Amino acid sequence: MMADSVDKLRAGVRDVSDFPKKGIVFKDITPILSDHALFRASIDLFLDQCRGKNIDKIVGIDARGFLFGSTVAYELGVGFVPIRKRGKLPYKTEIAKYSLEYGEAEMEMHVDAMMPGERIVLVDDLLATGGTSAAATALIRKVGGQLLEAQFLIELEFLHGRKQLEPTPVVSFLKY
Ligand code: AMP
Repeated sequence: MMADSVDKLRAGVRDVSDFPKKGIVFKDITPILSDHALFRASIDLFLDQCRGKNIDKIVGIDARGFLFGSTVAYELGVGFVPIRKRGKLPYKTEIAKYSLEYGEAEMEMHVDAMMPGERIVLVDDLLATGGTSAAATALIRKVGGQLLEAQFLIELEFLHGRKQLEPTPVVSFLKY
Protein backbone atom coordinates (compact mmCIF):
# COMPACT_ATOMS: atom_id res chain seq x y z
CA MET A 1 0.00 0.00 0.00
CA MET A 2 2.71 2.45 1.04
CA ALA A 3 5.13 1.23 -1.67
CA ASP A 4 2.32 1.67 -4.17
CA SER A 5 1.68 5.29 -3.20
CA VAL A 6 5.41 6.02 -3.20
CA ASP A 7 5.62 4.82 -6.82
CA LYS A 8 2.64 6.98 -7.81
CA LEU A 9 4.13 10.00 -6.06
CA ARG A 10 7.47 9.47 -7.73
CA ALA A 11 5.69 9.63 -11.08
CA GLY A 12 4.16 12.93 -9.96
CA VAL A 13 7.50 14.66 -9.39
CA ARG A 14 8.53 16.59 -12.49
CA ASP A 15 12.24 17.09 -13.12
CA VAL A 16 12.99 20.53 -14.56
CA SER A 17 16.59 20.88 -15.73
CA ASP A 18 18.60 24.05 -15.28
CA PHE A 19 16.14 25.73 -12.86
CA PRO A 20 16.69 28.08 -11.07
CA LYS A 21 20.18 27.97 -12.54
CA LYS A 22 22.24 25.87 -14.93
CA GLY A 23 23.21 22.44 -13.60
CA ILE A 24 20.35 22.17 -11.05
CA VAL A 25 17.60 19.59 -11.62
CA PHE A 26 14.60 21.11 -9.88
CA LYS A 27 12.11 18.64 -8.37
CA ASP A 28 8.75 20.24 -9.16
CA ILE A 29 6.02 18.98 -6.84
CA THR A 30 3.17 21.06 -8.32
CA PRO A 31 1.84 18.01 -10.27
CA ILE A 32 1.35 16.30 -6.87
CA LEU A 33 -0.47 19.31 -5.43
CA SER A 34 -2.83 19.64 -8.38
CA ASP A 35 -3.93 15.98 -8.26
CA HIS A 36 -6.16 15.47 -5.22
CA ALA A 37 -5.34 11.75 -4.90
CA LEU A 38 -1.60 12.37 -5.08
CA PHE A 39 -1.78 15.29 -2.67
CA ARG A 40 -3.72 13.12 -0.23
CA ALA A 41 -1.22 10.27 -0.68
CA SER A 42 1.66 12.61 0.11
CA ILE A 43 -0.06 13.93 3.25
CA ASP A 44 -0.90 10.36 4.34
CA LEU A 45 2.80 9.44 4.26
CA PHE A 46 3.59 12.28 6.67
CA LEU A 47 0.58 11.41 8.85
CA ASP A 48 1.58 7.73 9.15
CA GLN A 49 5.01 8.87 10.23
CA CYS A 50 3.57 11.28 12.82
CA ARG A 51 1.08 8.99 14.54
CA GLY A 52 1.80 7.84 18.08
CA LYS A 53 4.48 10.49 18.63
CA ASN A 54 2.41 12.77 20.84
CA ILE A 55 3.31 15.81 18.72
CA ASP A 56 2.44 19.30 19.95
CA LYS A 57 3.32 21.29 16.83
CA ILE A 58 4.39 20.93 13.22
CA VAL A 59 6.94 23.44 11.93
CA GLY A 60 6.97 24.12 8.17
CA ILE A 61 9.67 25.85 6.14
CA ASP A 62 8.93 28.72 3.70
CA ALA A 63 7.28 28.09 1.26
CA ARG A 64 6.53 24.54 0.15
CA GLY A 65 6.90 23.29 3.72
CA PHE A 66 3.79 25.36 4.49
CA LEU A 67 1.70 23.37 2.00
CA PHE A 68 2.56 19.97 3.43
CA GLY A 69 3.18 20.98 7.06
CA SER A 70 -0.02 22.93 7.63
CA THR A 71 -2.16 20.20 6.09
CA VAL A 72 -0.48 17.58 8.28
CA ALA A 73 -1.00 19.79 11.37
CA TYR A 74 -4.68 20.24 10.50
CA GLU A 75 -5.19 16.50 10.16
CA LEU A 76 -3.29 15.72 13.37
CA GLY A 77 -5.18 18.39 15.28
CA VAL A 78 -2.02 20.21 16.38
CA GLY A 79 -0.67 23.73 15.87
CA PHE A 80 1.40 24.89 12.90
CA VAL A 81 4.45 27.18 13.06
CA PRO A 82 5.95 28.87 9.97
CA ILE A 83 9.68 29.44 9.59
CA ARG A 84 10.13 32.22 7.06
CA LYS A 85 12.80 33.94 5.05
CA ARG A 86 14.00 37.02 6.87
CA GLY A 87 11.79 40.10 6.84
CA LYS A 88 8.37 38.43 6.54
CA LEU A 89 7.37 37.78 10.16
CA PRO A 90 5.88 40.81 11.96
CA TYR A 91 6.54 40.07 15.66
CA LYS A 92 9.80 39.45 17.62
CA THR A 93 11.87 36.71 16.05
CA GLU A 94 14.86 34.45 16.49
CA ILE A 95 17.16 34.46 13.47
CA ALA A 96 19.39 31.73 12.05
CA LYS A 97 21.92 32.21 9.24
CA TYR A 98 22.60 29.52 6.68
CA SER A 99 24.83 29.16 3.64
CA LEU A 100 23.64 29.16 0.09
CA GLU A 101 25.75 28.25 -2.91
CA TYR A 102 26.94 31.86 -2.97
CA GLY A 103 26.79 33.82 0.28
CA GLU A 104 24.33 33.54 3.14
CA ALA A 105 20.63 33.80 3.90
CA GLU A 106 18.58 34.01 7.07
CA MET A 107 15.47 32.29 8.39
CA GLU A 108 13.22 33.57 11.16
CA MET A 109 10.71 32.19 13.64
CA HIS A 110 8.53 34.06 16.13
CA VAL A 111 10.03 33.88 19.64
CA ASP A 112 6.70 32.76 21.11
CA ALA A 113 5.85 30.23 18.39
CA MET A 114 6.31 27.30 20.77
CA MET A 115 6.71 26.66 24.50
CA PRO A 116 9.90 25.14 25.89
CA GLY A 117 9.61 21.35 25.86
CA GLU A 118 6.88 21.16 23.23
CA ARG A 119 7.21 18.12 20.97
CA ILE A 120 7.97 19.30 17.45
CA VAL A 121 8.20 17.73 13.99
CA LEU A 122 9.80 19.69 11.15
CA VAL A 123 8.30 19.31 7.66
CA ASP A 124 9.59 20.43 4.26
CA ASP A 125 9.14 19.30 0.67
CA LEU A 126 12.77 18.52 -0.05
CA LEU A 127 16.09 17.91 1.69
CA ALA A 128 19.01 18.95 -0.51
CA THR A 129 22.26 20.12 1.17
CA GLY A 130 20.46 20.46 4.50
CA GLY A 131 21.44 24.09 5.06
CA THR A 132 17.86 25.35 5.18
CA SER A 133 16.55 22.70 7.53
CA ALA A 134 19.66 22.92 9.75
CA ALA A 135 18.82 26.62 10.24
CA ALA A 136 15.24 25.60 11.07
CA THR A 137 16.43 23.07 13.67
CA ALA A 138 18.64 25.76 15.23
CA LEU A 139 15.61 28.05 15.58
CA ILE A 140 13.49 25.33 17.18
CA ARG A 141 16.25 24.57 19.70
CA LYS A 142 16.81 28.29 20.43
CA VAL A 143 13.26 28.64 21.73
CA GLY A 144 13.44 25.33 23.61
CA GLY A 145 11.32 23.10 21.36
CA GLN A 146 11.97 19.37 21.57
CA LEU A 147 12.63 18.40 17.95
CA LEU A 148 11.57 14.79 17.51
CA GLU A 149 12.20 14.36 13.80
CA ALA A 150 12.58 16.11 10.44
CA GLN A 151 10.36 14.80 7.62
CA PHE A 152 10.71 15.45 3.90
CA LEU A 153 8.69 14.30 0.91
CA ILE A 154 11.89 14.16 -1.16
CA GLU A 155 15.54 13.61 -0.25
CA LEU A 156 18.45 14.16 -2.65
CA GLU A 157 20.65 11.57 -0.98
CA PHE A 158 23.76 12.36 -3.02
CA LEU A 159 23.96 15.77 -1.26
CA HIS A 160 24.17 14.11 2.21
CA GLY A 161 21.90 16.75 3.80
CA ARG A 162 20.93 14.45 6.67
CA LYS A 163 24.49 14.67 8.00
CA GLN A 164 23.93 18.40 8.57
CA LEU A 165 20.88 17.63 10.69
CA GLU A 166 22.58 15.20 13.08
CA PRO A 167 21.52 14.15 15.67
CA THR A 168 17.94 14.87 14.55
CA PRO A 169 16.30 11.75 13.04
CA VAL A 170 15.50 12.32 9.35
CA VAL A 171 12.68 10.61 7.44
CA SER A 172 12.04 10.97 3.71
CA PHE A 173 9.64 9.21 1.40
CA LEU A 174 11.04 9.67 -2.14
CA LYS A 175 14.80 9.23 -2.36
CA TYR A 176 16.95 10.23 -5.35
P1 AMP B 1 18.95 22.84 1.13
O1 AMP B 1 19.10 23.94 2.09
O2 AMP B 1 20.08 22.72 0.15
O3 AMP B 1 18.65 21.49 1.80
O4 AMP B 1 17.70 23.19 0.21
C1 AMP B 1 16.45 22.89 0.64
C2 AMP B 1 15.42 23.90 0.20
O5 AMP B 1 15.62 24.36 -1.14
C3 AMP B 1 14.07 23.24 0.26
O6 AMP B 1 13.18 24.13 0.90
C4 AMP B 1 13.72 22.97 -1.17
O7 AMP B 1 12.39 23.34 -1.41
C5 AMP B 1 14.67 23.79 -2.03
N1 AMP B 1 15.42 22.99 -3.02
C6 AMP B 1 16.76 22.75 -3.03
N2 AMP B 1 17.14 22.00 -4.07
C7 AMP B 1 16.02 21.74 -4.77
C8 AMP B 1 15.73 20.97 -5.96
N3 AMP B 1 16.68 20.33 -6.65
N4 AMP B 1 14.45 20.91 -6.36
C9 AMP B 1 13.46 21.53 -5.68
N5 AMP B 1 13.67 22.27 -4.57
C10 AMP B 1 14.91 22.36 -4.10
